[in-house]
Amino acid sequence: MFTRILGYKIFSGTKKELLGYINDFDKVNIISGNPEILYSGIKDEFLNSVFTEKNSIIIPDGVGTVLASKLVKNPVKEKIAGIEVMEEILSKCEKENKRVYLLGAKEEVLKECIINLITKYPKLVIIGAHNGYFDLNNCEDIINDIREKNPYALFIAMGCPRQEIFIANNIKHLPCKVFMGVGGSFDVFAGTVNRAPRWMINLGLEWLYRVIKEPWRINRLGAIPKFLWKVLFYK
Ligand code: UDP
Repeated sequence: MFTRILGYKIFSGTKKELLGYINDFDKVNIISGNPEILYSGIKDEFLNSVFTEKNSIIIPDGVGTVLASKLVKNPVKEKIAGIEVMEEILSKCEKENKRVYLLGAKEEVLKECIINLITKYPKLVIIGAHNGYFDLNNCEDIINDIREKNPYALFIAMGCPRQEIFIANNIKHLPCKVFMGVGGSFDVFAGTVNRAPRWMINLGLEWLYRVIKEPWRINRLGAIPKFLWKVLFYK
């Protein structure tokens, strides 16, 4: 069920198998393991400890991670995009009457995201939400709000490492079952950022689409060859 890459355990099953696997956990932190994030975790002890924690599941989110699994000769069955896992969980929550809480993004993006999610999942209960611009060391009001509303799933869209820090600080004392850092996904649901067209996703070119749309991301791509290089020479 897992492929070892650079000391990480990467989930190697299908998206469907992942959803079944999550059920066995009391609490789970789903990590979208793209090369950039996994590379950050090699250099940063704190992130590494979050990614290798027993409640964490790293999914192979990105062609670079899929390629790395081939390099270590234990290929994952498929690329699993974090945003698609989020959609599956939202759909499950809608069907099973489970509450979700959204934390992150700019206020106007968050509002638009909620409107669009309710249109897409009419019976979904979004029990609470807060934008992602607050002091991580002084956010008791937000933590209390989440605790009181007791959601099944908490989606945190504040980018890495901010979302990981929030989860690491709070996973033990918040009652949620599913914690998931979802990066720019609220922007996608809000419609302020588009996902690549399906043919590009299928060809593994989502990263190229994002760079064309948001050229400042080009710097971030440097992590991919560095990550693959480390994978090749990891002992
Ligand atoms: N963001 C946030 N608080 C911050 C910084 C960023 O809520 O202090 C939000 C930002 O508005 C965006 C999201 O984090 O909605 C994800 O940003 P990014 O695109 O960098 O994430 P990625 O998808 O690359 O992980």
